[in-house]
Amino acid sequence: MKIACLSGKGGAGKTLVAVNLAAAAGKATYIDCDVEEPNGRLFWKPQEVKEKVVSTLLPEFDSKKCTGCKKCVEFCRFHALMYVKEKPMVFSEVCHSCGGCKMVCPEGAITEKPKEIGHLELGVSGNIRVVTGVLNPGEASGVPVIREALQHGTEELVIIDCPPGSACSVMESVMEADFCVMVVEPTAFGFHNFQMVYELVTLLGKNCGVVINKQEEVYQPLEDFCIEKQIPVLARIPYDKEIAAQAAEGEIVSYKNDNIRDVFREVLQKIGGAL
Ligand code: SF4
Ligand code: SF4
Repeated sequence: MKIACLSGKGGAGKTLVAVNLAAAAGKATYIDCDVEEPNGRLFWKPQEVKEKVVSTLLPEFDSKKCTGCKKCVEFCRFHALMYVKEKPMVFSEVCHSCGGCKMVCPEGAITEKPKEIGHLELGVSGNIRVVTGVLNPGEASGVPVIREALQHGTEELVIIDCPPGSACSVMESVMEADFCVMVVEPTAFGFHNFQMVYELVTLLGKNCGVVINKQEEVYQPLEDFCIEKQIPVLARIPYDKEIAAQAAEGEIVSYKNDNIRDVFREVLQKIGGAL
């Protein structure tokens, strides 16, 4: 079973939920797809970490073969190519490595060379396999790192910690998920972002439920929305200074607090039942 944890914005508690779901399960693979800010490893403190480079392919041009027809430049929908000083030039930051320019070049003047854009860290923390995707600063898209990280989700239970928001990197992270856990703060801002995530999850036809985090008071528009759309509320985690302090210290709350561990075990049971 693959469970993806999402939130419409950073700071809602997505990583807290993802880490504690895996911890409450006792045995799982945790995959951090939040490749621009992978924080899950701060909780797991994985051991025996091995690194694996993630690369994409960049076009390279043979000036002897190039006739200057500009078909490659016209083809590139990402505007990653410019024709400068009578030869094509690639802007690596915006190239999506689609390989299209190589395909359309009538002279066979384009080859591809690998370019490192990030890496994976593969480690263990007790019975949890910890896979962390890390994107190099300045890279335009984390999708290739996410794809590579998800290849390591071979355990019976896989918990995917998605990037925040609802962009294409989130879509890539949830594509293979059996169930989406949407983590939301019960505030106007949290609710606004949650609706965008819900739209994405619905578009992809995924089973889903919500975890309301840092709940002090009921936020009625969120409650009404969940009732109207028939979204199950899997758990309500109260705003609690002790939980916040433990999380800030990089501690896994389920390992310290039996009540919280039971809350997450119940979430897993509900998801199992829903599937
Ligand atoms: S590989 Fe694709 S994105 Fe990159 S320059 Fe060529 S056409 Fe553009
Ligand atoms: S399509 Fe090929 S020949 Fe034409 S400009 Fe590009 S590299 Fe040169």
